[in-house]
Amino acid sequence: MRCIGIFGGTFDPVHYGHLRTAFELRERLALDEVRFVPCGQPPHRKERVTPSAVRMEMLAAAIADEPGFVIDERELMRPGPSYTVDTLASLRAEFPETALCLLLGMDAFLDLPTWHDWRKLLGFAHLVVAHRPGWQAPREGLLGTLIKSHRTTAVRELRERVAGSIHIEPVTQLEVSSTELRRSIRAGIEPRYLLPDNVWRIILASHCYAAPHEETTEVS
Ligand code: ATP
Repeated sequence: MRCIGIFGGTFDPVHYGHLRTAFELRERLALDEVRFVPCGQPPHRKERVTPSAVRMEMLAAAIADEPGFVIDERELMRPGPSYTVDTLASLRAEFPETALCLLLGMDAFLDLPTWHDWRKLLGFAHLVVAHRPGWQAPREGLLGTLIKSHRTTAVRELRERVAGSIHIEPVTQLEVSSTELRRSIRAGIEPRYLLPDNVWRIILASHCYAAPHEETTEVS
């Protein structure tokens, strides 16, 4: 059965923590593709989000050389908050006989019980949780119980049915976060080697992380 990874995020900006995680999960799980799904209106975020056209441009530049990576714009097309459950329902309708794996960092997974209609997610997709620096899989509570009852014992189980399993996969841990990148770029610190150079060039050209009153640097 075909098996695709769904990697949602604000990608403001996309960085090597996202890219390396998606790459390792695609290899280890032999995913047919990874669809990056940039969020339209993140339901949780208080800070202003960079316009979707700029986030898309950065994402497209970052994945241009990797044929197994594609962008899925459905959340940008939908008005209102971007709920993952709606995204998975629409992907399930489009791909009725494909295994769908929602790829999540451990921090995102631990946040799951705050997501809209989160209990429905496993009806539409598998959950694949990548270890993120500093996080441990929960053993107790709502998520601990959920893991116990749905956890896979082998990767191949992800292709045996279209949804409903939880798989935990360790990935190379890169301590990069978009929030920290935005903060350091505003403080004048170059993010070289934390994100692709072509993404940095877009950041410089669009001034998207400059404070409104700041002088901005031109692309060299
Ligand atoms: P922000 O700091 O703005 O919240 P972020 O860097 O956490 O951003 P998001 O776009 O919110 O990135 O995250 C999208 C997905 O990528 C989430 O599932 C998150 O857990 C995962 N992720 C983010 N950073 C990393 C990282 N360094 N390593 C592995 N996964 C990551």
